[in-house]
Amino acid sequence: MNDVFKGLFTQQEPIPDSGIAAANAVLQHGRLHRYNTVDGEIAEAALLEEEFAAYIGSQYCLAVASGGYAMATALRACGVGHGDKVLTNAFTLAPVPGAIAAVGAMPVFVGVTEDLVIDLDELTTKLDQASVLMLSHMRGHLCDMRRLMDMCDAAGVTVIEDCAHTMGASWDGVPSGRWGKFGCFSTQTYKHINSGEGGLLVSDDAEGMARAIMLSGSYMLFERHRAAPPPETFAQIKYETPNISGRMDNLRAAILRPQLRNLAEQAGRWNERYGVIADGLADVPGLQLPHRPKEEAFVASSFQFLLLDWAPDAVSDVIARCAARGVELKWFGGAEPKGFTSRYDSWHYAPSAPMPKTDRILAGIVDMRLPLTFSLADCTLIAQIIRSEVSAVYQGQAAAE
Ligand SMILES: *Cc1c(COP(=O)(O)O)cnc(C)c1O
Repeated sequence: MNDVFKGLFTQQEPIPDSGIAAANAVLQHGRLHRYNTVDGEIAEAALLEEEFAAYIGSQYCLAVASGGYAMATALRACGVGHGDKVLTNAFTLAPVPGAIAAVGAMPVFVGVTEDLVIDLDELTTKLDQASVLMLSHMRGHLCDMRRLMDMCDAAGVTVIEDCAHTMGASWDGVPSGRWGKFGCFSTQTYKHINSGEGGLLVSDDAEGMARAIMLSGSYMLFERHRAAPPPETFAQIKYETPNISGRMDNLRAAILRPQLRNLAEQAGRWNERYGVIADGLADVPGLQLPHRPKEEAFVASSFQFLLLDWAPDAVSDVIARCAARGVELKWFGGAEPKGFTSRYDSWHYAPSAPMPKTDRILAGIVDMRLPLTFSLADCTLIAQIIRSEVSAVYQGQAAAE
């Protein structure tokens, strides 16, 4: 059986009709800038913030231009600046060390486990090196958040969460983004809700959020925010905080509001797809699936498996054979960074000591997008293709030994 899969791994669903209608209304009235409102009007951006705060259970929310901007703003609002060190994951994507570099700080990388989460034992040994941890819930895998928060609280390390892959996810009933001082979300096309570009920042910290609002470029119009601290919080902050423009506009907010209302339903659909692939890849010799603890409620918009301790040529062979059958896999072990798969050692602006334990795991990580345009039957076929190609290469390797 040599079926070829024809779907497009980068094709998301259309914007829902209600989002298109809301976008049209904004285009027709022409007030795209969030502070351009008429008497009595509440901007779409302010409504989105209010709705997202209610959804996630935070006091405050700020809509911004990108997820990366949300992270850099959170760092600035925590007082991180030139020459400071910031702990972060070695297994993450480029916007994360990029946000740290954007404020002039330097990442200190912490390794990854076989379950694709930050290595908490290694983190323990590095907590004395920085006062902030930018924790990336990379590819939607959540670490033991209670243990992490206990460790960081005890060491006086502030946690900022990168929730670009965990919108709607939770650990032990507490949403991701609600554990740290700030939670940073992305609404870029490949995430859980899609406005092309965009980001959301949440917090319960009044001063931190007042700084973030000033940083985002609110001029002195912060009173038009709804999910924001009271005006008196801004009394000094408004004089002290530079404007580093990165607001979200009303057009994007209008597109996002209906998608937020559908998020729980969409999460269910993503997880159904994940389940079909996980079932299809169970018990494949040589292939390991990350263990997903019962405390973790994830929203799968991608799928990862490990070909741990495989020869690099054999992994390349699997990737090529799957590609020939229409299944697009990304490999974190390739010699050169390609597409979205750069690694801590590809970021030369953030030099790091070698991390052999992490290198072993990165060398085995295979990653795949899971857009909702794939049907469950598509997912069955994708799993069959991966299963047969992994098995063929694995048996060939064994025979050669
Ligand atoms: C996408 C992404 C972000 C934020 O990305 P933007 O493109 O700036 O919205 C942050 N962290 C991770 C891991 C991401 O994949």
